[in-house]
Amino acid sequence: MLTLTGLTLRPGESEDKLLALCERKLHAPAAHFRILKKSLDARDKGAIKWVYTVECSKKREQLPARTYEKIKGEQPRVVIVGAGPAGLFCAVRLLRHGIRPILIERGRPVEAREEDILTFQRTGVLNTESNVQFGEGGAGTFSDGKLNTQTNSPLNREVLETFVEFGAPKEIAYLSKPHIGSDNLKKVVANIRGFILGHGGRIFYESKLTGVDIKGGKLSAAYINGTRVEADDLVLAIGHSARDTFEMLLANGFQMEQKEFAAGVRIEHLQEEIGRAQYGEAFRLLPPADYKLVSHAAERAVFSFCMCPGGVVIPSASEDAGVVTNGMSNFARGGPNANSALVVQVKREDFGSDHPLAGVAFQREMERAAFRAAGGMFRAPVQLVGDFLDGRESSRFKGVLPSYARGTAFAPLESYLPPVLANSLRTAIPDMGRLLSAFKAPDAVLTGVESRTSSPVRILRGEDMQAAGIEGVYPCGEGCGYAGGITSAAADGIRAACAIARKHF
Ligand SMILES: Cc1cc2nc3c(=O)[nH]c(=O)nc-3n(C[C@H](O)[C@H](O)[C@H](O)COP(=O)(O)OP(=O)(O)OC[C@H]3O[C@@H](n4cnc5c(N)ncnc54)[C@H](O)[C@@H]3O)c2cc1C
Repeated sequence: MLTLTGLTLRPGESEDKLLALCERKLHAPAAHFRILKKSLDARDKGAIKWVYTVECSKKREQLPARTYEKIKGEQPRVVIVGAGPAGLFCAVRLLRHGIRPILIERGRPVEAREEDILTFQRTGVLNTESNVQFGEGGAGTFSDGKLNTQTNSPLNREVLETFVEFGAPKEIAYLSKPHIGSDNLKKVVANIRGFILGHGGRIFYESKLTGVDIKGGKLSAAYINGTRVEADDLVLAIGHSARDTFEMLLANGFQMEQKEFAAGVRIEHLQEEIGRAQYGEAFRLLPPADYKLVSHAAERAVFSFCMCPGGVVIPSASEDAGVVTNGMSNFARGGPNANSALVVQVKREDFGSDHPLAGVAFQREMERAAFRAAGGMFRAPVQLVGDFLDGRESSRFKGVLPSYARGTAFAPLESYLPPVLANSLRTAIPDMGRLLSAFKAPDAVLTGVESRTSSPVRILRGEDMQAAGIEGVYPCGEGCGYAGGITSAAADGIRAACAIARKHF
């Protein structure tokens, strides 16, 4: 097997050239050819290039299949709460070990959930149990589906391979910044459902964990929509928006602590302007450009997050009378606007209380203030960057039209963001504009409020993944404070599955 590193192609050049190069090196036709890594080097705008690592061989190569130890004893009764990445990947991994879990999800199947989301966008009637945060696939289903993660877990590769196994584009396995897109994610989620049901797992929708029975520090049963269900193991893969579930768990003695997060607004630019600023005129031959910016110029760190090239700002509320933004794109990232979360570090001191759920109250306050600022009906408050920087109210859009489907109303950021957040943004935007000139464009639109960037709480757990002082319960994923994003949440779900399987081998 030959591995070639540092191969380059110019934007628009065909990847067939890589195969031809391999065959020249092999002095024979390649029976095996695989791209291992692909990244874009845009440091020099005059010489932008794709950089590859590939492997090839004269022989047909069989990639080794993963093997999984099976449980030997009786079938344990494992209930997984939440069908987001953590819950779904936990279920898949348990099935590989021969454990057939029961998966419960408060929201609806992904197809019905999409209808609920479209109804909400059209009418403003919110289904508080089936929306952008809740329902099969979890919070990231209607997202850009970015799969890069800052964690360095060996499980990340397994997550990407599992996504490909269930229908994601193959390139996510080797791209340096892989993304699936909402269109593909919905299909992948449906395929994972098929796998779970086809291998003896069970899924119950519109089924909410409403209580737990803990006896002598050990799980005895779960309550699902108020009905008692005996369980040996309970996985809490509930996501960061399960506020009622956090309250229920706190009341049942789960140890929780406040967790800092970030909050701010979505910023929208014309995708073309971002492309030109990042790549010069070569942007036309390249995938829609992204960016990642950080500023330490203000009192608090400000950073861009969850950038969605060619995407839309999606209404992401899960509670009445609160506006929440997030970003989404399809695989092609073909829309006219680029958006990203532009967020400021939120500190415990901002919460104004030591209560473990004070961060939830802080989020809710901003969401309700944003709802009021825009006059209700889940319209979002917007302000143009130029007006925000000059301290003026906005009165009309210029080049950039907001993509937020529920409609918008002009309102200053200060009407819903605490002063420390608004002031930090005002200092950071021009500073970030020094790194990426298009970023501070006066016609860019700021839409509020980006409040659900990660969980405001952590449910404590031990090395064995079980909740502190409660045997048989496994808090995992983003909501319990152990992940940030799709890939790391999925990896944590796998980790919980391994911990449960180990108990039953
Ligand atoms: C619009 C949007 C765009 C995003 N874009 C990206 C992106 O591009 N890349 C990225 O890495 N991350 C993105 N994220 C974040 C990502 O979605 C989360 O990090 C990830 O989904 C967390 O996975 P999870 O399984 O821990 O929780 P979740 O995905 O939140 O899943 C939790 C599930 O539990 C269910 N649940 C909650 N309480 C109960 C209960 N009591 N009973 C039964 N079910 C319950 C919920 O309905 C939900 O389906 C985005 C998020 C949103 C909202």
